Amino acid sequence: MTVVRIAPTQEPDVDLSRTYDAVVVGSGAAGGMAAHVLTSQGMHVLLLEAGKKVPVEQELRSMEWPYEHPRRGEMPPGYHAIRHNEYTIRQPPYAAKSAFKHVFSYVGGWGGSDYVKNILVDEKDHPYTGTRYAWVRARLLGGKTNIWGRLALRLSDYDFKGKTHDGYGEDWPISYADVAPYYDKVDTYLGISGHNENLPHLPDSLFQRPNKLTAAEVMLRKSLAGMGRVLTPYRAGVTTDGVKNKYRSKCFGRGACGRRPGGCDIHAAFDSPTGLIYPAMDTGNLTLRTNSIAHEVLVDRNTGKARGVSFVDSQNHRTYEAKAKVVILAASTLESARLLLLSKSRQYPNGIGNSSGHVGHNFCEHVMGPGVTGMVKDLVGRPPSLDDGKPGGFYVPRFRNLQDRQSGFVRGYGFEGGSGFSIFPDGAWDTPGFGGQFKKTVREHAGAFISIGGFGEVLARYENYMDLDPETKDRWGIPVLRFHYQFGDNEKKMCEDMATTAKEMFEQAGIEIVGVDKEMLTEGWSIHELGTARMGTDPKTSVLNQFQQSHDVRNLFVVDGSSHVSASCQNPTWTIMALAWRSCEHLADEFKRGNL
Ligand SMILES: Cc1cc2nc3c(=O)[nH]c(=O)nc-3n(C[C@H](O)[C@H](O)[C@H](O)COP(=O)(O)OP(=O)(O)OC[C@H]3O[C@@H](n4cnc5c(N)ncnc54)[C@H](O)[C@@H]3O)c2cc1C
Ligand code: SF4
Repeated sequence: MTVVRIAPTQEPDVDLSRTYDAVVVGSGAAGGMAAHVLTSQGMHVLLLEAGKKVPVEQELRSMEWPYEHPRRGEMPPGYHAIRHNEYTIRQPPYAAKSAFKHVFSYVGGWGGSDYVKNILVDEKDHPYTGTRYAWVRARLLGGKTNIWGRLALRLSDYDFKGKTHDGYGEDWPISYADVAPYYDKVDTYLGISGHNENLPHLPDSLFQRPNKLTAAEVMLRKSLAGMGRVLTPYRAGVTTDGVKNKYRSKCFGRGACGRRPGGCDIHAAFDSPTGLIYPAMDTGNLTLRTNSIAHEVLVDRNTGKARGVSFVDSQNHRTYEAKAKVVILAASTLESARLLLLSKSRQYPNGIGNSSGHVGHNFCEHVMGPGVTGMVKDLVGRPPSLDDGKPGGFYVPRFRNLQDRQSGFVRGYGFEGGSGFSIFPDGAWDTPGFGGQFKKTVREHAGAFISIGGFGEVLARYENYMDLDPETKDRWGIPVLRFHYQFGDNEKKMCEDMATTAKEMFEQAGIEIVGVDKEMLTEGWSIHELGTARMGTDPKTSVLNQFQQSHDVRNLFVVDGSSHVSASCQNPTWTIMALAWRSCEHLADEFKRGNL
């Protein structure tokens, strides 16, 4: 087995006296893809990233056993990850007046925040205000892709043409046929593992070797087939057969994926630096500047076009200007909206690209919480097997409101699940007793549990929005976002149905139910924020056209999840990258023709 560890090409010096062909803001899934596509088309690109370049291999330490860490992976004293009850009983800013020196989002509590304390933002430096919201941010080269969960799903025309299907919301200005070739490109370039199921509502990818299902999962898959539902191996944005990329190794399944808040130190799981940015640097066309917090898109007073970006150096707090012929925002859904709103000028008094008044609005995401845990009695007492040595468990695609129509709600939800032995037997928490008998019971039952949890579509609504807080600023003096957002009745009804169907599927399969969760988790928990600068054909009700290009400013593009018209119930990252690829190809063509 070859583990590849290659340092990226030396970065070219940043030359701020020069006008670059394009400046890209943000280096996560969207910004990394923009850098890859534009540099491969010969454009000279400056990539501005607010965070540091962190040696993630040293942070993630995927091969470290719990007993090798002085605190079993726990955070040092003075560090705190916000708990669910804090999100529900308090209002943001959650870190204000906290006695802890460093405060992280809840993800810091997953399997030890010591591994993510330099990856997640410190909420003390990055406050936000308004309604409750669990906002997970990663400010470093590669953004959240350094720790993402890797579930890589396609959307279908049930999503792109949702309004045509059920009358709610807006259709996207594109259909599956427009995006499919770009999903194929992303699959081939980055690698994805999975199994073909031939479902119209969850199109197959160009899969590499899938994860093996456990005995409990095979049993549930068979039972679900009888109900007309599907259980498929986790579709992971992980290369299991290898890709042509010297910075990445193929997955050899040693299980850290499931142990920590994600992250793979051999980069078998996709992350933007090794998957996209380092190869883009190898073209010689990419210049990277980290520690660069963009806070305004600059405008040419004569033409109204974007002329570059103003940014603060996070270390010396000085302000600089980067000049470019095209500006591409990819700072993530909420940060890109913040940047558009911050970019006020004589020409654009409500923020650049915001003549519609829709920037920050139509926010959507996924609702989570309901699910079940069950036990397969036949598996109690069987010898241990390596069940968590893989990038994920399984996925049960949407089955509601496809051919049928539910009376209580529109749209649908899918379930993520897992089962079998893991490095820590979760069943131990609820096992009664102590001493030798307790240990024996835990060991015997460790491989017999299976659980699923739902991810449902939150409807895009104009009244769910973010604006700039008139008073609160971040550590660098930049106004922060203020949330005006809450789940509605559709989400509540959907969650009730999720709990019911989860239970019914386990009962049908003969799995003994040991726990049912009915509670909805706080807004934001899914980390799938979308929709704050949506695409559309009408400039009065949308911000971007079908190529993620501003209706108002033709050399301004926003290529992250803010452009999504609806949330679907499928995880968004593969779609974010397919759309960014499509838009940047179009951008490069237009650039060459002199149309920007
Ligand atoms: C724990 C976890 C699990 C997840 N699991 C999944 C999953 O299974 N499937 C899935 O599809 N998605 C998952 N996601 C979500 C996924 O990570 C995001 O959809 C994806 O990273 C979005 O890409 P992005 O480029 O829009 O944003 P990001 O990856 O967040 O990148 C944005 C970048 O922009 C930078 N930036 C922000 N503001 C500025 C500024 N003003 N100036 C300069 N730079 C700026 C940030 O520092 C960051 O590097 C998960 C996320 C997390 C954290
Ligand atoms: S299971 Fe595969 S993708 Fe996950 S951390 Fe291990 S090697 Fe990386």
